[in-house]
Amino acid sequence: MFELMKLPFKDNALAPVVSAETISFHYAKHHQAYVDKVNELIAGTEFQNMSLEEIIERTFDKPEYLALYNNAGQVFNHNVYWNSIGFGERIDAELETKIKEHFETRDALRQKIIDEAVKFFGSGWIWLVEGAGGKLSVLATRNGDTPLVLGYKPLLNVDVWEHAYYLDYQNRRKDYVEAFVTQLLKI
Ligand code: MN
Repeated sequence: MFELMKLPFKDNALAPVVSAETISFHYAKHHQAYVDKVNELIAGTEFQNMSLEEIIERTFDKPEYLALYNNAGQVFNHNVYWNSIGFGERIDAELETKIKEHFETRDALRQKIIDEAVKFFGSGWIWLVEGAGGKLSVLATRNGDTPLVLGYKPLLNVDVWEHAYYLDYQNRRKDYVEAFVTQLLKI
């Protein structure tokens, strides 16, 4: 059985970039619903004692497990999302060096994430990932897909499902992404 992770901040701590009302739906309703669905789907099955990552890897690209794959992916992706939020504290020195090596500046990386998020069509996620040989890159995944199954180590993400911003920004995804990436994203 999985439990909804604890938020590493108070529900009003992200305002005005992300309101407490958005958190109340996004975390307490959407994220909770993915956790509940995974628990329902794994009960009494071969998956019930596996880690989330293992479930995702074992159900990837298997049509008979599509619902479990999608919901487990969404639990994992939201866990990464809430942990991608910082409050301007210094980032890990090793990560900072790697960002400079791959993107030259942190602002250039921020802009790349914003650009990818704005042009991404539909529901999904924009990620900073680490690939073979420690290479950093920015990529997008659709719906509940995660970079884990593509062989990347996810470092952080931005949720671009409408439920992440609609209450605060309605259809203005660009405004949400710019505010989120420049003010909250831990890079
Ligand atoms: Mn979400």
